Amino acid sequence: MLAGGIDVQASSTHNVGLFSVRPIPAGTVIWLPCPKCSRWSTEEIAELPEERFAALDKYGHLLADGSLLLPCLGAYLMNHSCEANVLDLGLDFGLAVRDIAAGEEVTCDYATFVEDEGWSMECNCRTASCRGQVTTAQGADQRLREQWRGRIDAVLPLVASVEQPLHDVLAGLSTPYRRILQGGSAIAEVASGASVCAPAFLTL
Ligand SMILES: [Zn+2]
Ligand SMILES: [Zn+2]
Repeated sequence: MLAGGIDVQASSTHNVGLFSVRPIPAGTVIWLPCPKCSRWSTEEIAELPEERFAALDKYGHLLADGSLLLPCLGAYLMNHSCEANVLDLGLDFGLAVRDIAAGEEVTCDYATFVEDEGWSMECNCRTASCRGQVTTAQGADQRLREQWRGRIDAVLPLVASVEQPLHDVLAGLSTPYRRILQGGSAIAEVASGASVCAPAFLTL
């Protein structure tokens, strides 16, 4: 599921991407895997022709149970940036880790999709900290995780005070979100083991 006010537009680094149509304050939840997202089970994946799987895996990501999830409402079109403005470490949703201006591209870090073992891509994000090759193995890199943690912890206290377009869905699905609203202000306090690769609804 994707927050409203985000639109598909031509991207300078990719064919298309997601762009905010109005300013989005830091601490806003941008997207989360939800039961309305399209999902293919391991059995269904096994029956897909190779090219069809490759196309789906390009836009979707694998979950902890081996299924493939294509995030709904166009969220699957979010591009990668090595300086992503949306991060999800320790959370089961993507969080804006800084203010996003109107017209700015909304990006996440594909290295967090750790269940896509062995996945990699040539990056062309043109940011100062571009890693060149982006791999899901980088999702286990301690230095990178510390950077993500610092950026997320810095904005977690804002989550309860900014308008949350996805509040109702989050309150129903996300333990970390509920813990933040109860005063949790650091990943270490709010993490439940759920992630964008292991959303809690998988076990419902
Ligand atoms: Zn969804
Ligand atoms: Zn890059």
